[in-house]
Amino acid sequence: MDQHKKLVYTVKELCRVCYTCVRECPAKAIKIVNGQAEVIADRCIGCGNCIKVCSQDAKVFILSRLEVKQLLQSGQKVVAMVAPSFPAEFSEVKDYRKFVGMVRALGFSHVFEVGFGADLVASAYKKLLNEKTGNGYISSDCPAIVSYIRYYHPDLVKHLAPIVSPMVAMLRVVKQMLGNDVKVVFIGPCIAKKAESAEVDEVLTFRELRGMLEHAGIDSQSVTASDFDPPRAGRGAIFPVSRGLIQTVNILDDIVEGNVLVAEGRIGFQEAIKEFESGNLQSQNLELLCCEGCIMGPGMTAGGKRFERRTYVSSYVQHKLQPQQRKQWEAHFNEFANINLTQSFSPNDRRMPLPSEEQVNKVLASMGKFSPRDHLNCGACGYDTCLEHAIAIVEGLAEVEMCLPYTIEELHDSIKDLAISNETLAKVQQALKHSEKLAHMGQLSAGIAHELNNPLGVVLMYSNILLDECATTDPLRQDLELISAQAERCKKIVSGLLNFARKNQVKLEEIDLKKLAEDSLASVVKPDNIKTGVICRGSNLKANLDYEQMMQVLTNLNKNAIEAMPNGGILVVEVEGNDTEVAFSVKDTGVGIPEENMDKLYTPFFTTKGIGKGTGLGLATTYGIVKMHKGRIEVESNTDSHKGQTGTVFRIILPRDSMEADS
Ligand code: ADP
Ligand code: MG
Repeated sequence: MDQHKKLVYTVKELCRVCYTCVRECPAKAIKIVNGQAEVIADRCIGCGNCIKVCSQDAKVFILSRLEVKQLLQSGQKVVAMVAPSFPAEFSEVKDYRKFVGMVRALGFSHVFEVGFGADLVASAYKKLLNEKTGNGYISSDCPAIVSYIRYYHPDLVKHLAPIVSPMVAMLRVVKQMLGNDVKVVFIGPCIAKKAESAEVDEVLTFRELRGMLEHAGIDSQSVTASDFDPPRAGRGAIFPVSRGLIQTVNILDDIVEGNVLVAEGRIGFQEAIKEFESGNLQSQNLELLCCEGCIMGPGMTAGGKRFERRTYVSSYVQHKLQPQQRKQWEAHFNEFANINLTQSFSPNDRRMPLPSEEQVNKVLASMGKFSPRDHLNCGACGYDTCLEHAIAIVEGLAEVEMCLPYTIEELHDSIKDLAISNETLAKVQQALKHSEKLAHMGQLSAGIAHELNNPLGVVLMYSNILLDECATTDPLRQDLELISAQAERCKKIVSGLLNFARKNQVKLEEIDLKKLAEDSLASVVKPDNIKTGVICRGSNLKANLDYEQMMQVLTNLNKNAIEAMPNGGILVVEVEGNDTEVAFSVKDTGVGIPEENMDKLYTPFFTTKGIGKGTGLGLATTYGIVKMHKGRIEVESNTDSHKGQTGTVFRIILPRDSMEADS
């Protein structure tokens, strides 16, 4: 009865990563791969829990309808054996004989009740338990439990009651009556039955039977009522609502002595096995059922209520207790009392070796769990504890992402990272827009400057010629001097514009940055209330730059800094260098630059200084020169004294050699 066929599958498209099946699988036979649940055939005990709990219907079991159809069409004699839980499934068929008629209509030659097999098996249990061997027995009628013990508690296999299940008992009755050639199809609420016994030809679930009936257009109205073929079930028919076989005997006969512990459902049966294994239960017998009674099996139509189902079975059993029925049953029971019901079990250890502590700790650490305090044991992953989850990861059954608290934290971090890169992106976009704007202006400025340069040269030249020719006492001389001076001023503006438009040449030579900084400070007029200084960082403070142009840059920045400190302050020029770049930072403790002006700083003629005071060309020129050196300008400013010292830093970063740098 080893399972070679895969009983349960996942429909990948429907699986929504809730890990409920992981939680509900007593065999830990669910593997999560890329967030998708996969059933490991080798570990699966076929209990069908995962099918019952999956809200997305993403778990399906193997279907046998085609095989059964083929059997029925093969011309061989095929009999159906119906599990005693059928009244709970086909409750809408008020007369059970109509139900039997429906099954017959599919083409089965006989329809038997497995309940009679349960009668035989119950009596075998009665004998076994009365032998008082001191060996606590575990019931072996639930095939999922049998597999569970063989795979995961192989040391307990010797406790499995050496008795066949009601299904196999009934099959042997049928074969004794009809011969070995007869084909047998079991119909019931169970998926594990599909792999229980090679003696049964096919196993259908009630769900599949419904499908077949529907497909064949068979309903209770279209068939004639007929009873099950004898031998019919007696008290064994109550088996699916009693709490197991041994109890069936107990309830009805009150003969079995000693204690029987009943545990059903995935939590109950596992706990009972653990306690049994630890030896606490002494010689108690265990009656274990994977589902909460067979009436709750995964092969039943989903959604049925447990207690309602119980009533359907109970009321069906009522008619079995009539004296006439009872007599008939006794005769049959005696007829088949000698049938061989023994069965032996062998261990089939499928436990995985426990991973080393080191491996587990490594996995735990990868989920941010470094100490016991980090073990939330929240169960969101489907495992009861973080440790179990980590072991499953090492065993290749689970993934780190299944840890919800960890994944949420990771997500938060990613969102933060995303926000940061978004911000950076926005800044870069802004800067790009800005430099595009400046480039356009540069083109315009270059055009204007170029056109003005020649006429301006002429004005300058002729006003100077006139000045030369003018006598020192000539009253016109003053006017001529004014013309010449203003033309000179225009020329400076034009030159500034040309710088901004990067239309000037760069004459590179090796320059000592410290000296350059000191020269620049010396060239500006400083009021007494302003202190100045040069700070140097790094050892290699030499670079290939255009001295004149750099002087212009630093002088402009120094002037601006001084003008921003009307009440005095500190002006520092910092010089630094690394392998590839050098930088000047001009820092002041002035009024700062308001946020709304930041975008306009390098625009030609932007000034906040009164008419005649500022030209608005200082930073435009600076910008052009820095660009000609393939460098960049950064500015940071604070205008709010509540946020600390107000002031501004202009930082100019230049390649050591602009000839070699990429622009
Ligand atoms: P100008 O100095 O002729 O006004 P600039 O191009 O040098 O032109 O500067 C443009 C504007 O940038 C200035 O008017 C001023 O508003 C602002 N600015 C430049 N540097 C500073 C600074 N260090 N502190 C405060 N504001 C500054
Ligand atoms: Mg200026």
